[in-house]
Order: sequence, then structure tokens, then C-alpha cells
Amino acid sequence: MTADLRTRHQELSDLLNRYRWEYYTLDAPTVPDADFDALMRELENMEREHPELVTLDSPTQQVGPPMDSSFTAVTHPAQMLSLDDAFSLDEARAWHSRVSEQIRARGLTDAGYMCELKIDGLAVDLLYVDGVLNRAATRGDGRVGEDVTTNVRTISAIPYRLKGQASGTVEVRGEVFMTLAGFADLNDALIEDGKKAFANPRNAAAGSLRLKDARVTATRPLTFLCHGLGVCDIPLATLEETYETFAAWGLPTSDRRRVVHSMDEIETYIDQLGQDRPHLAHEIDGAVIKVNDIGAQNALGATVRAPRWAVAYKFPPVEVTTKLLDIRIGVGRTGRVTPYGVMTPVTVAGSTVDRATLHNGFEVKRKAVLIGDTVILRKAGDVIPEIVGPVLADRDGSEREFVMPTVCPQCGATLTYEKDGDADLRCPNRRSCPAQLRERLIHLSSRQGLDIEGLGEKAVDAILAAQVVSDEGDVFDLTADKLLACPLFQKADKSSPDPVLTKNGEKLLTQLEAAKTKPFDRYLVALSIRHIGKGVAPVIAAHYPTIEALRSASEEELSSVDGVGPVLAASIRAWFQVDWHQVIIDKWQAAGAMRGAAVEASDLPQTLAGLNVVVTGSVPGFTRDGANQAVVARGGKATGSVSKNTAVVVAGDGAGSKLDKATKLGVPVIDAADFARLLDEGLRVVSNAPGA
Ligand code: NAD
Repeated sequence: MTADLRTRHQELSDLLNRYRWEYYTLDAPTVPDADFDALMRELENMEREHPELVTLDSPTQQVGPPMDSSFTAVTHPAQMLSLDDAFSLDEARAWHSRVSEQIRARGLTDAGYMCELKIDGLAVDLLYVDGVLNRAATRGDGRVGEDVTTNVRTISAIPYRLKGQASGTVEVRGEVFMTLAGFADLNDALIEDGKKAFANPRNAAAGSLRLKDARVTATRPLTFLCHGLGVCDIPLATLEETYETFAAWGLPTSDRRRVVHSMDEIETYIDQLGQDRPHLAHEIDGAVIKVNDIGAQNALGATVRAPRWAVAYKFPPVEVTTKLLDIRIGVGRTGRVTPYGVMTPVTVAGSTVDRATLHNGFEVKRKAVLIGDTVILRKAGDVIPEIVGPVLADRDGSEREFVMPTVCPQCGATLTYEKDGDADLRCPNRRSCPAQLRERLIHLSSRQGLDIEGLGEKAVDAILAAQVVSDEGDVFDLTADKLLACPLFQKADKSSPDPVLTKNGEKLLTQLEAAKTKPFDRYLVALSIRHIGKGVAPVIAAHYPTIEALRSASEEELSSVDGVGPVLAASIRAWFQVDWHQVIIDKWQAAGAMRGAAVEASDLPQTLAGLNVVVTGSVPGFTRDGANQAVVARGGKATGSVSKNTAVVVAGDGAGSKLDKATKLGVPVIDAADFARLLDEGLRVVSNAPGA
């Protein structure tokens, strides 16, 4: 063996150990997983060819990071191992033929293969003694983990007491993770508070679970799914039976698991999962295939790092590298100034990406990216692409630092922070900054606003260029003559020397007329009042059905409305205090707009009439706003906080403190799976719910 080989082995080990430390201990990886995996592969191959290189502390022999933590160390009753990877279908086929051959040759029971999601979170071990959660621990180095019982107790998906008869000791294993929606909300909130955002949902879940203050963990949208078994006093023959038993005990199991009997079926499962991946509520990085029979699992055993009876098929990476060509500035509807990266176009998770937001100047600094850097770009399923950070090794000195501007690039106004501690700079020229006005007009006509199809981006650009509106107050004063001043709405006409209005122009006028009687909640959205979106607007409109009623409401009154609260109340009051906002209302009223009902007249049965409903956690098939709207459309009030006046709490995955409060106050709780029935049948679902 050459000295070069030893040097490379040492180099790779050092590098991988550093990455493992950053990933597991700091929850802040600096390279994409795919790069890490490729280096690990190189090390494994090297060690396979030269077994004399293998040492006990080689990264190939480790399950996780060594214990270096302020949590109490706990030794797992049964070791928690990692998984061997298959990076291609060929590798998965090789695993399958090896294992099925062993099962045949050794006369082991063949109960097929369990196919599961490989959820991207962190593994925990839940020790139940006589049906009660006794201790929860992280995987740690596989033998010794961290005692995170207090933190795990705050995760509502993990039952404290199992249902039915679960006597003796059972080690339930599974993944603690965050849904994509939960992750996005958490990062938004952290950024808003000027705190560090997490690089991805896995790091967010790991960082949130391992917080010193369990009260903070309780506010994090963590959830859980079972994926394995440690020691167990109850005889269980197969994984399928194990999961069925877990489900009967009230533990969350995935309904996407499948038992199959051939490699063809395994491939079909992987293929389908690949197609469904962008639509899942959480991130996965692959599929896990396991021998279903537990006796056969035990007979096949494990290496120091991973069981032989399971393999993780990893999907191609969704993290890629590309060049950061420039950092530019966008000015949003509420004046928020956002730097965004312009990159060499790159395909990631099935789509081409050349732009990604960098949120604000502090985020650019935190990510420490320079213009000209090679950057890591990640995209999880359908979510917005994100620049993770620079690849420092690729720097050649030509990169330059981005400087946050001090004046608005669109109108030249001096940028300001609204209040001390804000992360976002804003353009104060609210009324006439062309960028803000453009975004407000697009928002006004969007589906959630007044839904004026003919007033899309092109039309907005055309009316602004022709200067036929000076702000949104003029929208309902648009006439055929004014539209004719825009080349976009002109067409030649044989019978006249002058151009006439296009069909689209005519349509726009009709749509504007129709919009005048749209319900008030849509106007509330259209007004671009900060924090007022389509979720809360119907709640406000239900209390204050006209602009006059809303204008005369005090901040105190407003904030006492369920679902509104002090932040929204202050935002509404501040909006009314601006003179030119008043002018918009006057102009709209003079043009005959804003004279619809309070909220959309619903054809739906009013099954929740007058009831306060709180939706918390994720509800399959609904966004949070969508779920709230569905409640309002049935006559209910979708409120944000649980009180004794709450009729029912709908608790989905990731439900946290609201669920605890409901339990404390004795407010009925239903599962998210029953939400559709609640909409159809009203509180009948509650009285039928078990335990009600
Ligand atoms: P792993 O994530 O590849 O697989 C094992 C883990 O998968 C289990 O411990 C469990 O937490 C999880 N899992 C999810 N669904 C499961 C299921 N259905 N059944 C069983 N387990 C399931 O292994 P690992 O040792 O935790 O981490 C190694 C991986 O982490 C690497 O492949 C790499 O992608 C990533 N990593 C990245 C860096 C970096 O710097 N980017 C550093 C270290 C590790």
C-alpha cells in the first residue's frame, strides 16, 4: 500500500469527521448530503480493497457522533444502528438478491419485504414500560444516546400512555421530524425575530428536539412516525404485525408502508414514491426496504454500523451546486426590501432554478455568501429553492461582498427599519414607489383578493406604463378610453382610423364591474394591510362587515376578537392612520365598489354556525388558510387560540401547545382525519369521537 493511499484515507476520514460534527452536533451542515455520501463511498471502497486501513474510529464504522452533549447519557437496551445505502436500483437489486438467497439457503421464514418512507428527521427510541412512556433518547452513537424525555413529552403525536394492554417493556423506534409547512413557518418566525434560520427540516427537527429548554421545544412543529422496534416483551412475528400493534396502541404509523414479495414490486414502490415525493407533507430522502419477518431479521444480523436485513434506497440529490452570479434587490408589496441570488440555471428536484431569495441583509451575512461563489442550492419537493451556503474550497479570490443598498433601487427613497431590531429594510415611499404599487395591484387582482383575471402582471405593467392609474385608488375608474391609452389593449379596426379596445380590454372592464360587489373580506385582502391574508380576512369581516365598522373599531376591541390578536389589531389601526389609504377607500366607494356582503355567501350547509373552531397542526388535504376558510364557509369562526369558548380543536400532525391547552380546559379534540366529517356533520363528529 502506498503512502499516498494512507494520506488520502486520513484526509477523507478527517473531512468526513468534520462534516459529521457539523451535521450531527451543530445541526449546521456545510456540504450537500450527496457530497458527503460520495466521500463516504470513496472511503468505503478504499477500505474494502485495503482492509488493513480500517480502524475502529474510521467514519465507516460509526453510527452517529460521539456523545458530546449536555443531556444525560442513556445506554439503549438494544443498539440503534444506521442503514446501509443503495444509491441506484442496481445496488438495491444486489441487496435483494443477496438477502433473498440467504433466506432461501438458511430456510428462514419468507414473509416478504416491508417498504417504507425514509423520513428525513432524527431517530428516537421510546421506552414504554407497562404502557407508559418511561424514557426517550436520541440515537447518539448507536449504543449511547441522549435522554430527551422532557422534550419528547412536548410532542403531541407521541402518546404518554399507550392504549389497551401493553405490558412489560417495549422499545418503540421512529423518526421525529417537521412537515415542510411547519419548517417554513418556523424559519419565517425565526427570521422575523432576527434569529438564525435552519438549513433544512432535518436540522430544524434535530435542533428543536435537542433544545435545553423543553418549553421552546413545545412551540416547535415536531411530529413523529414509528419505524422500528428495539427490545420487546410481547411476541411479534413480523414488522407488519409490529406496526399494526403500534397503531392499536395509538402510536402514529405511516399509511404508506407496503408489504411486497418481489424486487419488481419493490421497484414499483420506489418509482411511485419518487412520483409522489414532491407532494408529500414532509421531506423524505428515499425508501427503506426491510425483511418483514422478525425471526429472519435476527438470523441475518448486523454489521457494526447497520442491519443486514434492511437497505435505504436514496433518491438522487435535491441539493446541487451552482454559481451565484449576482445578488439583486426586490421591493415587495409592503415595501420590504429583499435581496435575492441570481444563479447559473441549474436543475434541482425536477425544475430549473436561477433565483432564490436571501430574505434580508442579515441572512446574506449569516450565510456568508459572496457574489461569484459556488453555492449549495437545495430544494425540497415543491418548496422554494434555498441557498444553503458557499463552497469555500471553490473560492479563487475574485468573489466580492454584497452590500445592502441604503436607497430604494426603484424610487430612490432612503430605506429604513420600521422599528429597532427589525431584520427587514423597507422602502418608506409606500404610495408611489413603482415596485410597491405594481406588487399591490397584482395582489389586489389575485385569486385571494378581488380575483380580477384580466388584471395580471402584463396588464398591471401596461396601465402603470401608460400612467392611467396613480395608485390602486384609481383601479375602478378605469374606462375604455383610459385602457385605449395602453398599447396592450389596442387593436386596429378596419372601420375606424383609431385603434379600438381588444377583447381582453373589454373583459377587464366587465370584470372590474363585477368585482365591485365582491364580499368585504376580499377587499380586506386587496387592501394590502400587513398580516391580513385570506385566512383571517373572513374572521375580521364576520365581526366588522363594512369598512366603516372596521374603521371605528378600537385596537383593544380588535385584538380581543378570536383569531385576530394584538399584532393584527395594531396593523389594522396603523393602516387606517395613513391619509392616502383613506383616499383609496373614498375613491373606491365613489366608484361604487366595496358594496358586497361581509363574506362570501356560502351555498354550503352551515354545519358549524356560530361555533369557534381551532385548527392546529397539519390537516391532510388542506393548507392552514384553506382549513380556516372551510370552517368559515360552514358558518364557523376559525380562531387561533383555545379558550373555554372553543367548541372543538382539530389536531393534526405537529399540533403542540394548543392541544395541551384543549386537554387542560376539557375542550373536545378531534383528529385531523375527521376534519372533513366535521365540516359535513358538525359537532356530531365530536359527540361520537372516542373519549368525548
Ligand atoms: P441515514 O440517515 O442514511 O439512515 C439511518 C437513519 O434513517 C435512521 O437512524 C433513522 O433516523 C432514519 N430513518 C428514516 N426513516 C426510516 C425508516 N423507515 N426506517 C428506519 N430508519 C429510518 O443514516 P445516518 O447515519 O443517520 O446519516 C447518514 C446520512 O446523513 C448520510 O448518508 C448523509 O446523507 C447525511 N449526513 C450528511 C452530512 C453533511 O455534512 N451533509 C454529514 C453527516 C451525515
